Amino acid sequence: MAEFTFELNDDQKEVRDWLHGFAADVMRPAAAEWDEREETPWPIIQEAAKLGIYSLDFYAQQFFDPTGLGVPMTMEELFWGDAGIALSIVGTGLAAVGVLANGTEEQIGTWVPQMYGDANDVKVAAFCSSEPDAGSDVASMRTRAVYDEAKDEWVLNGTKTWATNGGIAGVHVVVAVVDPELGSKGHASFIVPPNTPGLSQGQKFKKHGIRASHTAEVVLEDVRVPGSCLLGGKEKLDERLARAREKAKSGGERVKNAAMATFEASRPAVGAMAVGTARAAYEVALDYAKTRVQFGRPIIENQGVAFQLADMATQIDAARLLVWRASWMATAGKPFTNAEGSMSKLYASEVAKSVTAQAVQILGGNGYTREYPVERMHRDAAIYTIFEGTSEIQRMVISRAVGR
Ligand SMILES: Cc1cc2nc3c(=O)[nH]c(=O)nc-3n(C[C@H](O)[C@H](O)[C@H](O)COP(=O)(O)OP(=O)(O)OC[C@H]3O[C@@H](n4cnc5c(N)ncnc54)[C@H](O)[C@@H]3O)c2cc1C
Repeated sequence: MAEFTFELNDDQKEVRDWLHGFAADVMRPAAAEWDEREETPWPIIQEAAKLGIYSLDFYAQQFFDPTGLGVPMTMEELFWGDAGIALSIVGTGLAAVGVLANGTEEQIGTWVPQMYGDANDVKVAAFCSSEPDAGSDVASMRTRAVYDEAKDEWVLNGTKTWATNGGIAGVHVVVAVVDPELGSKGHASFIVPPNTPGLSQGQKFKKHGIRASHTAEVVLEDVRVPGSCLLGGKEKLDERLARAREKAKSGGERVKNAAMATFEASRPAVGAMAVGTARAAYEVALDYAKTRVQFGRPIIENQGVAFQLADMATQIDAARLLVWRASWMATAGKPFTNAEGSMSKLYASEVAKSVTAQAVQILGGNGYTREYPVERMHRDAAIYTIFEGTSEIQRMVISRAVGR
């Protein structure tokens, strides 16, 4: 029987330490500047590409790590460095997962490498599901994909919003409605290749946190893509739609839609990002509490502060354990029967929000200024309870699973 262990193996430790070095030496010192600039940190993505941190090979290695811990470990270290810059580095991964979850082997082989480009010419990719009237309620999506049989092309029209890397990406993965009668079961995902006419960037959002990550609307006006850009292929789509129509008639079981397949796979990874930000803020607060002297002694010697730090440390470890469990389950092919992926994302993101807020409090006035990183970490942490399914939506998913 395999030995049970919480310890990373030597290879994983080596990768973790290498990532930590990049996060500490390259990302952390640049974090405040890119937060202020609110721009994609291309030089840092390039640096990551040169080192092999921003590359398909590296992510594939972590994704296929047999213990399941490669991805969460990577996310935790990079988001420990800085959440905005890290999202610029790993945002392409969401689009890649969209293709891995729904594409054929040929589509994966063609498009995923193009999403990253190479060290001399780095590219980013975008996953476009959300719309102005379809956020949590994915079934309200309006972007339409209509098949032009004569030309074997799909024609996409609609407006996507909140797309990480939207408009600056080479490859865009777009989720669209192919059969409006079927709600979210009538959705499909499409590759929009680089420089396809009709795709343009709408407004770029000015955000509260993760400001080094580009977030924008993506407008699709008569965007024509070849039939081969339908992820999974037409035959599989037709079969899936036929099954969904049958089930709709008989009121039968739920069929997973394209966007949901992507989000399910990525939720523990988002939990790991939240753990990284929480750990970063906790460490700053711990150091500060040991050195800041008031009333003649370091503030950590007050039980009120020490207990706060004890709770922060405990919650961060609990969050990491939930993330690791979900990641291990996903890799071991165990179904999320009790929505364990959502549990990990819900808990870790709430912990990140609360731990970063407590870190601001422990730093007092300094915590409230941009001279210290916890102010930025607190703003950054607010995203985790919103994107890839809000905390309320995670609770909906968990309550449905446990209440079945
Ligand atoms: C920085 C950033 C990056 C993003 N990146 C991407 C991306 O790359 N690709 C992409 O497709 N999307 C992306 N998103 C979109 C993100 O996933 C959505 O913002 C999120 O799903 C919530 O949708 P919404 O903003 O429309 O909020 P709404 O769905 O309008 O929700 C508003 C509030 O109502 C609550 N609510 C809604 N329905 C219920 C319910 N039934 N029960 C209880 N409460 C409910 C929500 O929890 C929330 O608190 C990003 C968003 C941000 C902010």
